[in-house]
Amino acid sequence: MADKTKIEWCDSTVNPIMGCGGCELYPKPGAILTAIDTELKTRIEGWKKGLAREVFRELIDVAWQDLLEKIGEPLSGHTNEMTTTNIWHLRTQFADRVKNQFGGKLSFAALWAVESQITCYAAKLHLNKGRSIVNPTRNVHAGHALTFETVTQFPGRVSDMADEVDLRGADRPDKPWLNGLPRLVFVSDMGDALTRKTDFPFLQRELAATQSENGLKHLWLWLTKRPGLMRLYADRVGGLPRNYCAMTTVTSMKTLHRVDELRDVNAQCRGLSVEPLWSSVADEIDLRGIDWVIVGGESGKLGVVREFHVEWALELKQKCEQQGVAFFVKQLGKCPVLRGEPFRLNAPKGDDWTEWSDDLQTREVPEYFHYYRAAGVPSPSALFSC
Ligand code: SF4
Repeated sequence: MADKTKIEWCDSTVNPIMGCGGCELYPKPGAILTAIDTELKTRIEGWKKGLAREVFRELIDVAWQDLLEKIGEPLSGHTNEMTTTNIWHLRTQFADRVKNQFGGKLSFAALWAVESQITCYAAKLHLNKGRSIVNPTRNVHAGHALTFETVTQFPGRVSDMADEVDLRGADRPDKPWLNGLPRLVFVSDMGDALTRKTDFPFLQRELAATQSENGLKHLWLWLTKRPGLMRLYADRVGGLPRNYCAMTTVTSMKTLHRVDELRDVNAQCRGLSVEPLWSSVADEIDLRGIDWVIVGGESGKLGVVREFHVEWALELKQKCEQQGVAFFVKQLGKCPVLRGEPFRLNAPKGDDWTEWSDDLQTREVPEYFHYYRAAGVPSPSALFSC
Protein backbone atom coordinates (compact mmCIF):
# COMPACT_ATOMS: atom_id res chain seq x y z
CA MET A 1 0.00 0.00 0.00
CA ALA A 2 1.61 3.20 -1.13
CA ASP A 3 2.37 5.90 1.37
CA LYS A 4 -0.32 8.30 0.11
CA THR A 5 0.17 11.93 0.88
CA LYS A 6 -1.81 15.15 0.96
CA ILE A 7 1.19 17.02 -0.45
CA GLU A 8 -0.24 18.69 -3.54
CA TRP A 9 2.66 18.17 -5.94
CA CYS A 10 3.10 14.39 -5.64
CA ASP A 11 1.20 11.12 -5.23
CA SER A 12 3.36 9.33 -2.67
CA THR A 13 6.37 9.78 -0.44
CA VAL A 14 9.21 7.45 0.45
CA ASN A 15 12.04 7.74 2.95
CA PRO A 16 14.99 5.37 2.69
CA ILE A 17 16.51 7.46 5.47
CA MET A 18 14.69 9.15 8.34
CA GLY A 19 16.12 11.98 10.43
CA CYS A 20 18.36 14.85 9.44
CA GLY A 21 21.39 16.94 10.24
CA GLY A 22 19.20 20.06 10.23
CA CYS A 23 18.92 23.30 8.29
CA GLU A 24 17.41 26.77 8.79
CA LEU A 25 14.13 25.07 9.82
CA TYR A 26 15.86 22.93 12.42
CA PRO A 27 19.06 24.69 13.43
CA LYS A 28 21.93 23.35 15.51
CA PRO A 29 21.65 23.98 19.28
CA GLY A 30 24.24 26.78 19.24
CA ALA A 31 22.27 28.75 16.65
CA ILE A 32 19.00 28.26 18.55
CA LEU A 33 20.52 29.40 21.86
CA THR A 34 22.03 32.48 20.20
CA ALA A 35 18.65 33.34 18.65
CA ILE A 36 16.93 32.93 22.04
CA ASP A 37 19.51 35.21 23.71
CA THR A 38 19.10 37.80 20.94
CA GLU A 39 15.32 37.77 21.29
CA LEU A 40 15.25 37.88 25.09
CA LYS A 41 17.92 40.59 25.34
CA THR A 42 15.55 42.94 23.52
CA ARG A 43 12.77 42.22 26.02
CA ILE A 44 14.45 41.55 29.35
CA GLU A 45 16.76 43.96 31.07
CA GLY A 46 19.64 41.98 32.48
CA TRP A 47 19.39 39.09 30.02
CA LYS A 48 22.93 38.35 28.94
CA LYS A 49 24.55 36.39 26.14
CA GLY A 50 25.01 32.76 27.15
CA LEU A 51 22.15 32.73 29.66
CA ALA A 52 19.92 30.53 27.48
CA ARG A 53 22.67 27.90 27.34
CA GLU A 54 23.17 28.11 31.13
CA VAL A 55 19.46 27.63 31.85
CA PHE A 56 19.03 24.77 29.36
CA ARG A 57 22.16 23.06 30.74
CA GLU A 58 20.64 23.09 34.22
CA LEU A 59 17.28 21.88 32.91
CA ILE A 60 18.89 19.00 31.02
CA ASP A 61 20.88 17.95 34.09
CA VAL A 62 17.74 17.94 36.27
CA ALA A 63 15.71 16.05 33.64
CA TRP A 64 18.52 13.51 33.26
CA GLN A 65 18.56 12.82 37.00
CA ASP A 66 14.77 12.36 36.92
CA LEU A 67 15.08 10.01 33.95
CA LEU A 68 17.68 7.89 35.74
CA GLU A 69 15.48 7.70 38.85
CA LYS A 70 12.49 6.64 36.77
CA ILE A 71 14.01 4.05 34.43
CA GLY A 72 17.50 3.33 35.77
CA GLU A 73 19.32 2.93 32.47
CA PRO A 74 18.76 5.42 29.63
CA LEU A 75 17.34 3.85 26.47
CA SER A 76 18.96 4.14 23.09
CA GLY A 77 18.25 7.67 21.82
CA HIS A 78 18.14 9.30 25.27
CA THR A 79 20.94 11.79 25.79
CA ASN A 80 21.98 14.45 28.27
CA GLU A 81 23.74 16.42 25.53
CA MET A 82 22.66 19.90 24.45
CA THR A 83 20.63 18.80 21.42
CA THR A 84 17.86 20.49 19.51
CA THR A 85 15.55 17.65 20.60
CA ASN A 86 16.31 18.30 24.29
CA ILE A 87 15.85 22.06 23.85
CA TRP A 88 12.43 21.44 22.28
CA HIS A 89 11.28 19.02 24.97
CA LEU A 90 12.39 21.36 27.76
CA ARG A 91 10.97 24.54 26.25
CA THR A 92 8.04 24.89 28.67
CA GLN A 93 10.34 24.40 31.66
CA PHE A 94 12.56 27.10 30.14
CA ALA A 95 9.58 29.43 29.78
CA ASP A 96 8.64 28.74 33.42
CA ARG A 97 12.15 29.65 34.58
CA VAL A 98 11.98 32.91 32.65
CA LYS A 99 8.54 33.62 34.11
CA ASN A 100 9.65 32.92 37.68
CA GLN A 101 12.74 35.07 37.36
CA PHE A 102 11.55 37.94 35.18
CA GLY A 103 7.77 37.98 35.34
CA GLY A 104 4.77 36.19 33.85
CA LYS A 105 4.43 38.23 30.68
CA LEU A 106 7.80 37.01 29.47
CA SER A 107 6.86 33.35 29.53
CA PHE A 108 5.24 33.58 26.08
CA ALA A 109 8.22 35.46 24.66
CA ALA A 110 10.55 32.73 25.93
CA LEU A 111 8.39 29.99 24.45
CA TRP A 112 8.11 31.88 21.17
CA ALA A 113 11.87 32.34 21.07
CA VAL A 114 12.29 28.54 21.05
CA GLU A 115 9.32 27.54 18.91
CA SER A 116 9.99 30.07 16.15
CA GLN A 117 13.39 28.45 15.62
CA ILE A 118 12.17 24.87 15.19
CA THR A 119 9.63 24.67 12.39
CA CYS A 120 10.52 21.63 10.26
CA TYR A 121 7.40 19.45 9.90
CA ALA A 122 9.37 16.18 9.75
CA ALA A 123 11.27 17.19 12.87
CA LYS A 124 8.05 18.01 14.73
CA LEU A 125 6.71 14.51 13.99
CA HIS A 126 9.89 12.98 15.38
CA LEU A 127 9.83 15.27 18.41
CA ASN A 128 6.30 14.06 19.13
CA LYS A 129 6.90 10.38 18.39
CA GLY A 130 10.55 9.75 19.29
CA ARG A 131 12.62 9.61 22.48
CA SER A 132 12.09 12.36 25.01
CA ILE A 133 14.13 13.27 28.07
CA VAL A 134 10.96 14.44 29.84
CA ASN A 135 8.91 11.35 28.92
CA PRO A 136 11.52 8.60 29.18
CA THR A 137 9.15 5.62 29.01
CA ARG A 138 7.61 6.70 25.71
CA ASN A 139 8.08 4.19 22.92
CA VAL A 140 9.34 5.40 19.59
CA HIS A 141 6.63 5.39 16.92
CA ALA A 142 7.19 2.55 14.46
CA GLY A 143 9.05 3.56 11.31
CA HIS A 144 10.61 6.68 12.82
CA ALA A 145 14.18 7.46 13.84
CA LEU A 146 14.85 7.39 17.60
CA THR A 147 15.33 11.14 17.53
CA PHE A 148 15.42 13.48 14.54
CA GLU A 149 19.19 13.84 14.91
CA THR A 150 19.64 10.05 14.78
CA VAL A 151 19.83 9.65 11.02
CA THR A 152 18.56 6.11 10.38
CA GLN A 153 18.48 3.84 7.32
CA PHE A 154 15.27 1.96 6.43
CA PRO A 155 16.07 -0.66 3.79
CA GLY A 156 13.36 -1.98 1.48
CA ARG A 157 11.08 1.04 1.37
CA VAL A 158 12.11 2.23 -2.08
CA SER A 159 11.70 -1.26 -3.51
CA ASP A 160 8.18 -1.50 -2.03
CA MET A 161 7.33 1.87 -3.52
CA ALA A 162 8.70 0.87 -6.93
CA ASP A 163 6.22 -2.03 -6.97
CA GLU A 164 3.25 0.28 -6.45
CA VAL A 165 0.53 0.58 -9.06
CA ASP A 166 1.40 2.48 -12.22
CA LEU A 167 -0.63 5.72 -12.27
CA ARG A 168 0.13 6.87 -15.82
CA GLY A 169 -3.11 7.95 -17.43
CA ALA A 170 -4.99 7.82 -14.12
CA ASP A 171 -7.20 10.58 -12.76
CA ARG A 172 -6.53 11.90 -9.25
CA PRO A 173 -9.90 13.19 -8.02
CA ASP A 174 -8.28 15.15 -5.17
CA LYS A 175 -5.33 16.42 -7.26
CA PRO A 176 -6.64 16.92 -10.80
CA TRP A 177 -3.55 18.91 -11.79
CA LEU A 178 -1.63 15.59 -11.72
CA ASN A 179 -4.09 13.70 -13.94
CA GLY A 180 -2.49 11.54 -16.59
CA LEU A 181 1.05 11.67 -15.19
CA PRO A 182 3.11 8.73 -14.00
CA ARG A 183 3.13 8.26 -10.22
CA LEU A 184 5.10 11.15 -8.71
CA VAL A 185 7.08 9.93 -5.70
CA PHE A 186 8.58 12.52 -3.36
CA VAL A 187 11.82 11.05 -1.99
CA SER A 188 12.81 12.27 1.47
CA ASP A 189 9.99 14.23 3.08
CA MET A 190 10.83 12.92 6.58
CA GLY A 191 14.46 13.90 6.75
CA ASP A 192 17.28 14.61 4.34
CA ALA A 193 18.70 11.41 2.83
CA LEU A 194 21.80 13.35 1.84
CA THR A 195 22.74 14.39 5.37
CA ARG A 196 25.80 12.09 5.41
CA LYS A 197 28.16 11.10 2.62
CA THR A 198 28.68 7.79 4.42
CA ASP A 199 25.12 6.81 3.41
CA PHE A 200 25.96 6.96 -0.33
CA PRO A 201 26.59 3.19 -0.70
CA PHE A 202 23.29 2.45 1.08
CA LEU A 203 21.42 4.94 -1.10
CA GLN A 204 22.97 3.52 -4.24
CA ARG A 205 21.77 0.02 -3.28
CA GLU A 206 18.29 1.16 -2.27
CA LEU A 207 17.73 3.53 -5.16
CA ALA A 208 18.59 0.79 -7.66
CA ALA A 209 14.90 -0.15 -7.28
CA THR A 210 13.92 3.09 -9.02
CA GLN A 211 15.54 1.68 -12.16
CA SER A 212 13.84 -1.71 -11.96
CA GLU A 213 11.15 -2.62 -14.47
CA ASN A 214 8.50 -1.32 -12.07
CA GLY A 215 10.49 1.57 -10.63
CA LEU A 216 11.04 3.22 -13.94
CA LYS A 217 7.30 3.54 -14.50
CA HIS A 218 7.33 6.27 -11.83
CA LEU A 219 8.97 9.67 -11.56
CA TRP A 220 11.09 10.17 -8.44
CA LEU A 221 11.26 13.71 -7.09
CA TRP A 222 14.29 13.84 -4.82
CA LEU A 223 14.44 16.89 -2.54
CA THR A 224 17.44 17.91 -0.49
CA LYS A 225 18.77 21.01 1.24
CA ARG A 226 22.23 19.70 0.39
CA PRO A 227 22.43 19.95 -3.42
CA GLY A 228 26.23 20.00 -3.20
CA LEU A 229 26.07 16.45 -1.84
CA MET A 230 23.46 15.51 -4.44
CA ARG A 231 25.94 16.59 -7.10
CA LEU A 232 28.59 14.31 -5.58
CA TYR A 233 26.10 11.44 -5.39
CA ALA A 234 24.97 11.97 -8.98
CA ASP A 235 28.58 12.00 -10.19
CA ARG A 236 29.23 8.76 -8.32
CA VAL A 237 26.39 6.97 -10.12
CA GLY A 238 27.08 8.47 -13.56
CA GLY A 239 24.29 11.06 -13.39
CA LEU A 240 20.79 10.80 -11.96
CA PRO A 241 18.53 8.54 -14.06
CA ARG A 242 16.05 10.17 -16.43
CA ASN A 243 13.10 9.30 -14.22
CA TYR A 244 14.39 11.66 -11.51
CA CYS A 245 13.74 15.31 -10.81
CA ALA A 246 16.57 16.75 -8.69
CA MET A 247 15.16 19.30 -6.25
CA THR A 248 16.27 21.70 -3.57
CA THR A 249 14.65 24.22 -1.23
CA VAL A 250 14.96 27.99 -1.08
CA THR A 251 13.46 29.93 1.84
CA SER A 252 15.05 33.39 1.43
CA MET A 253 17.95 35.20 -0.23
CA LYS A 254 20.29 33.47 2.23
CA THR A 255 19.65 30.07 0.64
CA LEU A 256 19.69 31.11 -3.04
CA HIS A 257 23.16 29.56 -3.34
CA ARG A 258 21.39 26.17 -3.38
CA VAL A 259 19.98 26.97 -6.83
CA ASP A 260 23.51 27.33 -8.23
CA GLU A 261 24.50 24.05 -6.57
CA LEU A 262 21.43 22.29 -7.99
CA ARG A 263 22.32 23.49 -11.48
CA ASP A 264 25.55 21.53 -11.14
CA VAL A 265 23.71 18.26 -10.44
CA ASN A 266 23.89 15.93 -13.44
CA ALA A 267 20.14 15.46 -13.93
CA GLN A 268 17.59 15.64 -16.72
CA CYS A 269 15.09 17.73 -14.76
CA ARG A 270 15.45 20.11 -11.81
CA GLY A 271 12.94 21.69 -9.45
CA LEU A 272 12.82 24.18 -6.60
CA SER A 273 10.62 24.03 -3.55
CA VAL A 274 10.40 27.68 -2.56
CA GLU A 275 8.63 26.93 0.67
CA PRO A 276 8.27 28.25 3.25
CA LEU A 277 9.14 31.52 1.58
CA TRP A 278 10.16 34.19 4.09
CA SER A 279 11.12 37.06 1.79
CA SER A 280 11.01 38.16 -1.82
CA VAL A 281 13.55 36.30 -3.98
CA ALA A 282 12.25 36.92 -7.51
CA ASP A 283 14.73 39.71 -8.36
CA GLU A 284 17.77 37.62 -7.52
CA ILE A 285 16.79 34.04 -8.28
CA ASP A 286 18.53 32.58 -11.35
CA LEU A 287 16.23 30.10 -13.06
CA ARG A 288 18.57 28.95 -15.81
CA GLY A 289 18.50 25.14 -15.95
CA ILE A 290 15.46 24.98 -13.65
CA ASP A 291 12.27 23.28 -14.89
CA TRP A 292 9.89 23.68 -11.96
CA VAL A 293 9.21 26.16 -9.15
CA ILE A 294 6.85 25.27 -6.30
CA VAL A 295 6.02 28.11 -3.93
CA GLY A 296 4.29 28.18 -0.57
CA GLY A 297 3.89 29.93 2.76
CA GLU A 298 4.63 28.59 6.22
CA SER A 299 2.21 26.38 8.09
CA GLY A 300 2.23 25.77 11.83
CA LYS A 301 1.17 27.56 14.99
CA LEU A 302 -0.39 31.00 14.74
CA GLY A 303 1.92 33.50 16.43
CA VAL A 304 4.99 31.49 15.47
CA VAL A 305 4.77 31.16 11.68
CA ARG A 306 6.12 33.95 9.51
CA GLU A 307 4.10 36.01 7.05
CA PHE A 308 3.80 35.03 3.40
CA HIS A 309 3.29 37.99 1.10
CA VAL A 310 1.22 36.91 -1.87
CA GLU A 311 3.11 39.41 -4.02
CA TRP A 312 6.28 37.32 -3.56
CA ALA A 313 4.50 34.40 -5.25
CA LEU A 314 3.13 36.57 -8.06
CA GLU A 315 6.58 38.03 -8.78
CA LEU A 316 7.96 34.52 -9.02
CA LYS A 317 5.10 33.45 -11.25
CA GLN A 318 5.87 36.30 -13.65
CA LYS A 319 9.54 35.36 -13.75
CA CYS A 320 8.66 31.69 -14.39
CA GLU A 321 6.28 32.68 -17.21
CA GLN A 322 9.01 34.81 -18.83
CA GLN A 323 11.52 31.96 -18.66
CA GLY A 324 9.23 29.04 -19.51
CA VAL A 325 9.47 27.42 -16.07
CA ALA A 326 6.49 25.44 -14.73
CA PHE A 327 5.01 27.18 -11.69
CA PHE A 328 3.02 25.60 -8.87
CA VAL A 329 1.43 27.37 -5.91
CA LYS A 330 1.23 24.80 -3.12
CA GLN A 331 -0.32 26.75 -0.28
CA LEU A 332 -0.51 30.26 1.14
CA GLY A 333 0.33 29.13 4.68
CA LYS A 334 -1.09 30.21 7.99
CA CYS A 335 -0.29 33.93 7.66
CA PRO A 336 -0.93 35.15 4.11
CA VAL A 337 -0.56 38.88 3.55
CA LEU A 338 -1.89 40.93 0.63
CA ARG A 339 -0.88 44.57 0.05
CA GLY A 340 0.55 44.65 3.57
CA GLU A 341 -2.62 43.37 5.25
CA PRO A 342 -2.92 39.87 6.75
CA PHE A 343 -6.00 37.94 5.65
CA ARG A 344 -7.55 34.71 6.87
CA LEU A 345 -8.50 31.66 4.84
CA ASN A 346 -10.73 28.83 6.02
CA ALA A 347 -8.24 26.09 5.13
CA PRO A 348 -5.77 25.97 8.05
CA LYS A 349 -2.71 25.73 5.79
CA GLY A 350 -4.15 27.99 3.11
CA ASP A 351 -4.05 25.03 0.73
CA ASP A 352 -7.60 25.16 -0.68
CA TRP A 353 -6.97 26.91 -3.98
CA THR A 354 -10.66 27.61 -4.52
CA GLU A 355 -10.23 30.29 -1.83
CA TRP A 356 -7.50 32.08 -3.83
CA SER A 357 -7.65 34.78 -6.45
CA ASP A 358 -7.48 33.57 -10.08
CA ASP A 359 -3.89 34.71 -10.60
CA LEU A 360 -2.70 32.43 -7.79
CA GLN A 361 -4.59 29.34 -8.95
CA THR A 362 -1.65 27.89 -10.85
CA ARG A 363 -0.51 24.31 -10.44
CA GLU A 364 1.71 23.37 -13.38
CA VAL A 365 4.25 20.56 -13.65
CA PRO A 366 7.24 20.41 -16.03
CA GLU A 367 6.44 19.38 -19.61
CA TYR A 368 9.03 16.69 -19.09
CA PHE A 369 6.75 14.83 -16.67
CA HIS A 370 4.20 14.47 -19.46
CA TYR A 371 6.51 13.18 -22.15
CA TYR A 372 8.85 11.04 -20.00
CA ARG A 373 6.85 7.94 -20.95
CA ALA A 374 5.26 9.16 -24.14
CA ALA A 375 7.25 6.63 -26.17
CA GLY A 376 6.74 3.85 -23.61
CA VAL A 377 8.64 2.91 -20.48
CA PRO A 378 12.34 3.45 -21.14
CA SER A 379 14.68 0.54 -20.83
CA PRO A 380 17.14 0.66 -17.92
CA SER A 381 20.03 1.25 -20.34
CA ALA A 382 18.32 4.40 -21.66
CA LEU A 383 17.76 5.86 -18.21
CA PHE A 384 20.88 7.88 -17.70
CA SER A 385 21.16 11.47 -18.74
CA CYS A 386 24.84 11.41 -19.63
S1 SF4 B 1 14.16 17.47 6.91
FE1 SF4 B 1 14.54 19.14 5.52
S2 SF4 B 1 13.47 20.89 6.45
FE2 SF4 B 1 13.68 19.33 8.03
S3 SF4 B 1 15.56 19.85 9.10
FE3 SF4 B 1 16.10 18.39 7.51
S4 SF4 B 1 16.72 19.63 5.75
FE4 SF4 B 1 15.58 20.93 7.17
